[in-house]
Amino acid sequence: MPVRSDNSRKRVEPMRFPFALSAKIAGHIIRHKLRKTPRFAMVLQLEPLHTCNLTCTGCGRIREYSTSLKDMVPLEKCLAAANDCDAPMVSICGGEPLIYPKIEELVAGLRQQGRIIYICTNGVFMRKKMREYFAAVYDPSNPSHRSSLERLLAEKLVTEKEAEAIRNADAAARSKVVIAPSQWMYWNVHVDGLEFTHDLIVEREGVFKECVAAIKMAKILGYQTATNTTVYKETDVRELEDMFKFLSSLNVDGHTISPGYDYDAAKKDMVKRLGKDPKEFFLTRDMTRQKFAKILDWGRLFTIFGTPVYQEFLAGKRELTCTAWAIPTYNVKGWKAPCYLMTDGHYDSYPEMLAKVRWENYGVVDGVARDPRCENCMVHCGYDPSGALGTNYQRGDNWKNFKYNFWPRPKPFPASAELERRAFNGVSIGKGHLAEAKAAINPAANARGAFSNNGHHEAHVGSHCGSGDTSERDALLARIADTRKTP
Ligand code: SF4
Ligand code: SF4
Repeated sequence: MPVRSDNSRKRVEPMRFPFALSAKIAGHIIRHKLRKTPRFAMVLQLEPLHTCNLTCTGCGRIREYSTSLKDMVPLEKCLAAANDCDAPMVSICGGEPLIYPKIEELVAGLRQQGRIIYICTNGVFMRKKMREYFAAVYDPSNPSHRSSLERLLAEKLVTEKEAEAIRNADAAARSKVVIAPSQWMYWNVHVDGLEFTHDLIVEREGVFKECVAAIKMAKILGYQTATNTTVYKETDVRELEDMFKFLSSLNVDGHTISPGYDYDAAKKDMVKRLGKDPKEFFLTRDMTRQKFAKILDWGRLFTIFGTPVYQEFLAGKRELTCTAWAIPTYNVKGWKAPCYLMTDGHYDSYPEMLAKVRWENYGVVDGVARDPRCENCMVHCGYDPSGALGTNYQRGDNWKNFKYNFWPRPKPFPASAELERRAFNGVSIGKGHLAEAKAAINPAANARGAFSNNGHHEAHVGSHCGSGDTSERDALLARIADTRKTP
């Protein structure tokens, strides 16, 4: 039986997403519609810091904020930002948010404000945070606690030494503020493919394995888990389907999936400096639609977050207008405008940003880009809320969205040894498969790291933590694909 600190009431029939969450979000939209609020926030992307323990190929945040990597948003300012925009959901991202020294207090403060929280993490520190939680609440007289700990040990998700530390937690450990399971909180783990691809992209062997271990531990302890995946030009759709099946077999509660895209600075550079056709590398709207052709099927089979209206948009069945103001980003520099991806300025307050940004200058309307940088953008932070807010309403949309979110959740995909084998396709996990792959792809660079962009990590771009020039990453995935075809 899982350990839960709150909300332990039994649910009659598992809905796709918890009823209280879906009802809270629906209530927020209805309230603003009745008040005729022209623009309001749905999800706050809160970046308390941009520091990270990884240097993924393609990290936009490390590049864009390379001069302020050591800066952090003070806790009070983070909480004030959430109040300022009053979004019902807060996605704590970064950088790696579990490095933020006050992450527990931040989560607790946001819960006090009644927000739904997603901790958007690369997964590496998750098990540590969950051990701290378990140590703080562990009660040896509670059979559920004992059996959860035994299961964690049996599945090798904690070591014997770690289990002892949980059993014998001292007063300091027991009084520590911790991140407790709640139906209002999700661990949102960055997973960009199965083992081979994911470890190459994050440039560290064993990260996929760690993410899976963290998800398993989270499920045993009663946490809600989600994953977020960005799709690029070279992403193999069959691998994505295997990834969803595998994650579903682990009982992951939800998935965000979004197309990566590039905007004009990267394209111009490619044409001018390298003399290359950007279409060779970038995911255009047409390409996105091809990649997402089956997203409505995926939505039926798996717990994909969002609305079917956004899924129809991704599949090329309809147009939507960008509503970037509904998923604002707050970070060390303030409110980032116009969106999570592009930066034309930072503002001191959300109302100020709403008032000063010329929103009518962004997005794509009827296939025409109002800003050339928006031309190929179909990302969830610009268009997912559009599906929920009815900006391009068609008859039946409200019912479709309601049914999707309030209906029973798809059954988990059955776990099997074959599925596990396909997921852990790095073959030699823990024995240097990353080094072998690097050497195969670029022998000359092997000694210094084939994907380290000549050693300049700050030039890396775009993963779950924000896009930018994804050409480096697309080129990497293309090389992986070529390498794997070579006998
Ligand atoms: S993409 Fe995310 S996990 Fe990777 S280096 Fe950037 S901030 Fe860290
Ligand atoms: S279309 Fe995309 S890039 Fe343009 S403002 Fe909207 S979210 Fe940003």
